[in-house]
Amino acid sequence: MPVTSYLVAIGSNRRHHRHGLPGDVVAAAMVALSTVGEVERRSTIIRSAAMGPAGRDFANAAVLVRSSLDPPAMLCGLKRLEGQFGRRRGRRWGQRVLDLDIIFWSGGTWQSPGLFVPHPGAAARAFVLQPLSEIAAQWRHPVSGLSVRHLYRRLTAPRPKHRGRACPGGS
Ligand code: ATP
Ligand code: CA
Ligand code: CA
Repeated sequence: MPVTSYLVAIGSNRRHHRHGLPGDVVAAAMVALSTVGEVERRSTIIRSAAMGPAGRDFANAAVLVRSSLDPPAMLCGLKRLEGQFGRRRGRRWGQRVLDLDIIFWSGGTWQSPGLFVPHPGAAARAFVLQPLSEIAAQWRHPVSGLSVRHLYRRLTAPRPKHRGRACPGGS
C-alpha cells in the first residue's frame, strides 16, 4: 500500500502505573505511535469533560501519521498499542488508560466490519476537533466537504438566542 496520512485522536482518563497521569499517558502514546507510521504533527494536549459513564476528565490530543498500513492494519496497530498501555476491553465510553481512534484518512472513506472512516462521532465532538484544528485545520471531511476548522467553529459558535414570536395584540 502506498504511504497515506491518518489523523488519529488520542484520549486517556486513567493513570498508568508507569507513565502517570492521563496527560502523561497521551504524551507517551504520541511517541509510541511511531510503531504504526511516521508521526508528522502533534497537537497540544487538552483536558475535556468525560462523555457518558466514563467519570473522570480526559486528556485529549491528535496526531498526523504517515503510514503504508491500510486502514484495517492501522486499526489493528492502534488496538495493539492500547493493549500495551494496559487497556482492557470494557464498557464503551468507560474509563480507559488509552483510546486511539482513526478520525480521517487521506484515502477518504473506508468501511469494513468494525471500522468506519471517517469516525462517525468526529464531526460532533469538540474534544476531537479542537486538537485536529491545530494540526489539520484545512483537512476536509470526505462526505460533507467541510473543513476541520469549519466543523469545529460550527460546534463551538455561540447560538443566537431563540426569539419567541411577538404575541399579536398582547404585551
Ligand atoms: P467511540 O467509537 O464512540 O469513540 P470508543 O472509542 O469508546 O467509542 P471503543 O470501545 O474504543 O469505542 O471501540 C469500539 C469499536 O469501534 C472498536 O472495536 C473498533 O473496531 C470500532 N471502530 C469503528 N470505527 C473506528 C475508527 N474509525 N477508529 C477506531 N475504532 C473504530
Ligand atoms: Ca473514542
Ligand atoms: Ca476507540
